[in-house]
Amino acid sequence: MVLGAQFGDEAKGKISDYLSAEARYVVRSGGGPNTGHTIELPEGKVVLHLLACGVLRHGVTGISGPGMVINPFQIRDEILDLERRGLRRGEIVISDRAHVLLPLHELEDAWEDDLRSKGDPAAGLGTTRRGVGPAYEDRYGRWGIRMGDLSRPAIVKERLALLYARKAHLPNLPPMEELAGRLAEVGGALAPYIRSTETLLWDALGRGESVLIEGAQSALLDIDFGTYPFVTSSHPTSAGAMMGSGIPPTELDSVVGVTKAYCTRVGAGPFPTEESGERGEFLRRVGGEHGATTGRARRCGWLDLVLLRYAARLNGFTSLAVTKVDVLGGLDSFPVCVQYRMPDGSLLRDAPPLQASDLAAATPVYEEIPGWPEVHERLKERLRRDGSPALPPALRRFLEFLTVETGVPVEYVGYGPHRDETVHLDPTTVPRRGPGLSAWSG
Ligand code: GDP
Repeated sequence: MVLGAQFGDEAKGKISDYLSAEARYVVRSGGGPNTGHTIELPEGKVVLHLLACGVLRHGVTGISGPGMVINPFQIRDEILDLERRGLRRGEIVISDRAHVLLPLHELEDAWEDDLRSKGDPAAGLGTTRRGVGPAYEDRYGRWGIRMGDLSRPAIVKERLALLYARKAHLPNLPPMEELAGRLAEVGGALAPYIRSTETLLWDALGRGESVLIEGAQSALLDIDFGTYPFVTSSHPTSAGAMMGSGIPPTELDSVVGVTKAYCTRVGAGPFPTEESGERGEFLRRVGGEHGATTGRARRCGWLDLVLLRYAARLNGFTSLAVTKVDVLGGLDSFPVCVQYRMPDGSLLRDAPPLQASDLAAATPVYEEIPGWPEVHERLKERLRRDGSPALPPALRRFLEFLTVETGVPVEYVGYGPHRDETVHLDPTTVPRRGPGLSAWSG
């Protein structure tokens, strides 16, 4: 399993793509069109919003899993776009249990965010307004339409009638008959892809084939364990990803948490290590920190070990993938937050406070980390050729520092956006199972 360990955009897409070389199936466990996993192939850049990254490899099946909410028009376009570019290599499967994200949900998302922000867009939750939150609300409210229902027009019409009655307050609703017609049409186009995926995966696991679960969004956006209410509407944690893929927890071998060497956040919500000045601008510029889905500039700041330790225990990370170390290359030193000082003088090390406003009031206590040289083309060549022995000593010490501070070994290091710009550290030093919660006692 590959999961985001921060607020999203950690380069999960690149790490999932790297690991998909070893997988027979890749299943996306949650989220919807609010995500954008960027993968730099030799042929060019691909941003996957609703398809799992396995679709980019021959011999791999990419599954859009049961936990997702899927805009059927968008996934059809995403498939067509990959085909047009000649990049659809693996098989595509869509879970019949994934829910349909409707145009009504996009209208509702905007309506709800306006209500929350009372007309001031800066005061809302900063959702992508792609309808993801309302689609999950309908799923849990038992109003939803599932992808597998699209082949049953009578069921779709019945559900739409209820949904229209429930959402009569929304402005600009499309005529119901017209929407029903469009859904029947797109349902026909997607029918060859839609099937039961849990049974497919159970059979594959039974045959001993390998399955990679690709998480979307990230731990600190979890509806229950994230910075509520500035969170997403699903569970981007390991427990949520088991549910969202339909695979039982007992099948899980390893959980890779992906973290940048610094930190970013999109949308509203507390971000204690945010750098709003020149240094934030440096990270945004060098790291290319603009949203893959919305193009919004990401808020940038330093790595926060309080949040990373929390994410590590919450998810049971067995190893970490540390990405974008090239962005910090060439700095003399840079700060990493090792704990928080709270307004009452107390120190927090292992978990953030419950209230978002209290987290926003935390003052990071930083440790200054010695930098490593710039990751220029020659160093990249050595890293590609020799792997981990070519890591600069200062970078290696930083990775060891992260392992000591979080209790989780670093297994992968990303030093550039391209598919092959990933170092795999010696797996014999990486336990198959995590240190367990006992490592934290005291
Ligand atoms: P995801 O949603 O977690 O997959 O992340 P995004 O795709 O939104 O953002 C990650 C961005 O960083 C993409 O533009 C990637 O091409 C890029 N990227 C991934 N890994 C690295 C890396 O190690 N170094 C650099 N400089 N860029 C990277």
